[in-house]
Amino acid sequence: MNNIRCSQLPRLFRCGQSVIETVVDCDAEQDNAAGRVGTAAHEMIRAHFDGTLTGEIAQNVCAGIGVRQAEVWPLVNAAKAIVAEMGLGTPDAMEDEVTDGILSGHPDAEWTAAGTYWIGDWKSSRLDPDYFHQLMGYAWLRRDRIRTLQGGCVLFVAWLRDGTVERYHVTVEGIDAWKASLDGIMAMQSRPYVTGSHCSFCQRCHDCPAQREDLRQALAVIGDDVTIDVSKLDGATVAKVHRKLKMLATVKDHWDEAIKNRVRTTGPIDCGDGFTLAIVPEKGRREIDTLKAWPELAKRLTDEELAPCLKVGVSAIQDAVAKKAPPRKGAEARRQLWADLEAVGAVTQGTAEKLKEVRNQNLTEKKEIQQ
Ligand code: SF4
Repeated sequence: MNNIRCSQLPRLFRCGQSVIETVVDCDAEQDNAAGRVGTAAHEMIRAHFDGTLTGEIAQNVCAGIGVRQAEVWPLVNAAKAIVAEMGLGTPDAMEDEVTDGILSGHPDAEWTAAGTYWIGDWKSSRLDPDYFHQLMGYAWLRRDRIRTLQGGCVLFVAWLRDGTVERYHVTVEGIDAWKASLDGIMAMQSRPYVTGSHCSFCQRCHDCPAQREDLRQALAVIGDDVTIDVSKLDGATVAKVHRKLKMLATVKDHWDEAIKNRVRTTGPIDCGDGFTLAIVPEKGRREIDTLKAWPELAKRLTDEELAPCLKVGVSAIQDAVAKKAPPRKGAEARRQLWADLEAVGAVTQGTAEKLKEVRNQNLTEKKEIQQ
């Protein structure tokens, strides 16, 4: 039987095939800006409850991970507020690795309070539709502790971006029944493939036959009609094609990278029709060294004429100001810079339209499920 991480359980309960080992891991949980902010938030939350979080630690964590403190602090403050609202204090354990030899994971934080065991997980973004099974995995791994308590266990996911909490109260019997359902899935001779939004983050997304068939059907809907007249399609088909195209973009990225690696490793490939697939060095974008160019630009243009030609990077300028500040004053210098720039009307923020799937249910709703 595979070794299963608790974080894989939400997908496993949707598609039993998602934990089958593959020859090439799709590396679905790639490095990205949102992921880095989440990593920094986890580190700072842990330091907060450890009692070791200082401005300098926060600065070092964010600089080391390459994110802006302004993006991370709201998440840290949300975790603090949620824990306070639940009446919990300092956790008994944080990010302990627990395993029964087959299932393993590390709950973000654990408490024993008023005869109940609490297990919490911080989420800074949503990779799966719900995390009940991930939490139940943790509960199973902590069942020996939970058995000794009268109040069972409270499991919760804290959504740090909107400050909401998804909470479940489970008993030892409920945990055992859940484990039996997991064992049932794992014992199935032939587990069915079930496609859905969870596929985007599945390690098998690049080689999954069900996914290929779904993509084929989506492409068949598009057909040869390149005029893209979606008004001809019903809403359900449009939504389905949109989801599949997103998936296709993920698969395309993985294929592009794999093909590039292949050509890099084994050399150019003859396409057989007079073309060769090769890695060709191309000149990048021309760049101007601002400092060296400044005297020449100033000779020709006034400040008003020059300003629209220049772009000031928000992170770069904040980092430069923080670096110049006295020790442990970097964060304050950033805040002051931002306040001063806003005061002179130098900061504007536009809005962009983004096509994305949003949950139908009220985001502020709290789930309470008795198991
Ligand atoms: S890509 Fe989707 S259908 Fe295929 S194994 Fe993964 S979760 Fe299952």
